[in-house]
Order: sequence, then C-alpha cells, then structure tokens
Amino acid sequence: MHIGRISSFQSLGTVDGPGVRYVVFMQGCSLRCKCCHNPETWDMHGGREYTVQEIMKRIERCKSYFGSDGGVTVSGGEPLLQAKFVAQLFQLCKQSGISTCLDTSGCIINDDVKELLRFTDTVLLDYKSTDPKAYKNFCGMDMQTADDFLLLLDKMHINTYLRQVIIKGFTDSDENARRLFEIASAHECVKKTELLPFRKMCAAKYEKLGIPFPLKDTEETPTSVIERLYALIYTA
Ligand code: SF4
Repeated sequence: MHIGRISSFQSLGTVDGPGVRYVVFMQGCSLRCKCCHNPETWDMHGGREYTVQEIMKRIERCKSYFGSDGGVTVSGGEPLLQAKFVAQLFQLCKQSGISTCLDTSGCIINDDVKELLRFTDTVLLDYKSTDPKAYKNFCGMDMQTADDFLLLLDKMHINTYLRQVIIKGFTDSDENARRLFEIASAHECVKKTELLPFRKMCAAKYEKLGIPFPLKDTEETPTSVIERLYALIYTA
C-alpha cells in the first residue's frame, strides 16, 4: 500500500474539474510559478502522510454528493511527483465508479505517470504561457515539456481542460489568447479552454510563510479582461 504526502483536502470543490468534487492537494512541488496560490505545498517534507485507504474512506463519505459529473480531483503541489500513490488512489476510485481528475503542470513524463494516466478521466493542464521564454522565466519549466505532455494526453485520448491564469503584462494579450486557442484546436483531447483571472488572496499565505510574493504589486485581473479574451477566441 502506497503512502502519500498530502497538504490538505477540500470536501466539496466546484472549481477543480467537472461537477462537485472531493479535492486532494498533494504536498511537494519542484516549480515556483510566480502566481502560485498554494506556496504551502512546495516543501517536499511538509504536509502529512496518509495511506490510500485513509483517503478512500474520506472520498467514499462524499460520494453521494458527486452526482453524474463530479468525483475526485488530485491537485497540489504537483501530483506527478507522487504518481505511484495517485495511480493507486485513482485505480480504487475507478473500481468504486468514481470519476478521476488530475490538476497538473505536466512537468514529468515517465512510466509511473503513464500508468497514472491510465486511470485518469480528465486532466486540468495548467499551461502557463504561450511564449517559451516567458514560460521558463515564469515557473522554471520548459514549455516543450508541457507540449510533450499535451501530446501524450492526445495520444491517450484523455479529456483535457487547457487552463491558463491571465495576468496583466504576462498572459493578457490578444496574441497570447489566439495562440492558446490554436494550441487547443490542434489537440483533439482538449474539450475546454479555461482562462482564470489572477487573484491575490494567497498574499497572506506568503506573508505567513515568510516567502516573497513575486506578483504582490501586480493588479488582479478584472472579469472584463477575461470576457474580452473569451470573446476573441470564441469568435476566431
Ligand atoms: S505547479 Fe502549481 S503548485 Fe507548483 S508552483 Fe506552480 S502553481 Fe504552485
């Protein structure tokens, strides 16, 4: 039985995949996205250890709320760092008729990750930017890795939501939105493109942890910008 290191849980989440979902936030991340709203998940040794059975018990208690669309989402942190554990959890979920969703940056491709994807119904792929240089500078990861991951999702026919945080001066241009739409259109697995407004509710977490928040002076993104970009990509 695998042991997983977990940061926290959310019983009835509605923004992390289809329907109502039980969300597991894994502990540990090797990236440092400038807009990260969960810096408490970065430390590989933080959080608490749980067995897959302990998590399944929690999930089963919420099962009646999932309806036809909902289920379990594993987020983080970066779930791919604990791929074996998440694979076992998802396998048990599938055996119980619970749908599975993975919220990831797509930063690792190996056999354990491929095995995990076999039990994954939906992937929320956090696609940070459409500019390779800006991508690397923003989170420390090569855009090519995200592209390779997206290609793998396409090959495996896994429903994918392509997600991007819209940040002033970084991802709020028309050009970026058009490119994102082109990337989405070029992959059959992408069922939805989600533009998420940058918010600063996480600033207090950074302060508490004593970590500088790189975007503390960046304005939050107004809904009107998100609407403008959606209008652009859906009328393209
Ligand atoms: S990949 Fe996710 S958890 Fe890791 S730094 Fe980026 S936003 Fe934060």
